[in-house]
Amino acid sequence: ATFASLGLLPALCDACTSLGFTAPSQIQEECIPYALEGRDIIGLAQTGSGKTAAFALPILHHLWEDPQGLFAVVLAPTRELAYQISDTFTALGSGIGVRVATIVGGMDTMAQQVALAKKPHVIVATPGRLQDHLENTKGFSLRNLRYLVMDEADRLLDLDFGPVIDKILKVIPREGRRTYLFSATMTTKVAKLQRASLRDPVKLEV
Ligand code: AMP
Repeated sequence: ATFASLGLLPALCDACTSLGFTAPSQIQEECIPYALEGRDIIGLAQTGSGKTAAFALPILHHLWEDPQGLFAVVLAPTRELAYQISDTFTALGSGIGVRVATIVGGMDTMAQQVALAKKPHVIVATPGRLQDHLENTKGFSLRNLRYLVMDEADRLLDLDFGPVIDKILKVIPREGRRTYLFSATMTTKVAKLQRASLRDPVKLEV
């Protein structure tokens, strides 16, 4: 397959070429067509599989078709992973003018408030700091959010982010929201989070 044959916008296919992605990886080939159809997805995939682009590309494709304020939130277990995911969104979405903010613990809260005021399309966050901003940053809400991604869900739950994620889920619309859950392993806790957050998901495993 090629990125174009999966149905992605030419600008995104060009970005893949610029990054040296000659062909979709297995998880990308499986995930992207379902994602473009608007399905919720649970992906069992390891780091290194290309899972980040597997969720970033369809989100960017839909963002281009229907530009919104805050479009997508990606929850990640660690700062390092959050920055990597942000870099991928920025690199893949440069041709469509995507604005990305990284909202993680241990970094300056005021600078993050300034970043949020600039109306990013995509926020990549660790759950605790995102919840802090939901409680304390005026005018910031997830009311119109279209996509929620939970990446490395097994690690998110091992780090006890479960209760914070439950709070975040309560303030994101259920109607019209698409949800992707990626995890290296399927655990009891991941299965519970899946039931609480995904609707009729396609299950992919690589
Ligand atoms: P990930 O599993 O998302 O952490 O991606 C692992 C690495 O694979 C990253 O450095 C990506 O830039 C790279 N990558 C992702 N998709 C492809 C692809 N289709 N072809 C070549 N490299 C890729």
